[in-house]
Amino acid sequence: MKRTFNDQSEIVPENYHILIPEATIESRLKELGQQISRDFRGKKPILIGILNGSFIFLADLIRNLDIDVEVDFLRISSYGDGRESSGHIKILKPLSADINGRSVIVVEDIVDSGLSVQFLERMLSAFNPVELKFVTLLNKPSKNIVEVHIDYIGFEIEDKFVVGYGLDDAQLKRNLRSIYFIE
Ligand code: 5GP
Ligand code: MG
Ligand code: MG
Repeated sequence: MKRTFNDQSEIVPENYHILIPEATIESRLKELGQQISRDFRGKKPILIGILNGSFIFLADLIRNLDIDVEVDFLRISSYGDGRESSGHIKILKPLSADINGRSVIVVEDIVDSGLSVQFLERMLSAFNPVELKFVTLLNKPSKNIVEVHIDYIGFEIEDKFVVGYGLDDAQLKRNLRSIYFIE
């Protein structure tokens, strides 16, 4: 274990390296919040957090919005505990909200192969939302194997496996405040 020296130091395993410090995430979320508030003013969008990875991002993002929003969650799984996409996507918890005729913003933690977003786009479109937008905290453009359109991206990152701020390392480490890559 080692201690990192960000704004708020936290204890991480030796093979974890800081990629995006907490303060950088915070300031980027302010910008995203302003942009989304501007684009959705008066529309009362439903934000759909894709579990589990997006729960911290969603919680922080909505507190940077100055518009009325609803929140719902959908749980899908494609990875299990592995680090590569299996490409096989299952719905583990369906939507509760009725998104027919609504403005919908899907909130993802990270876009890697793009298969999850492609699946969500097709699945959610079938419920006839009036608009369907995607926001992701992280995108790995070099890993995208299907063409996906993401409306709001927090950070573009290189092909590294990242953890923290909701993202897991075999289900652990979601509670780290900064984002790290594993060597
Ligand atoms: P995709 O379908 O785009 O390949 O990836 C979808 C999901 O895989 C993401 O929402 C995320 O949960 C997981 N994932 C992809 N890359 C990473 C990564 O670097 N770290 C972690 N912890 N999860 C990842
Ligand atoms: Mg995800
Ligand atoms: Mg995972």
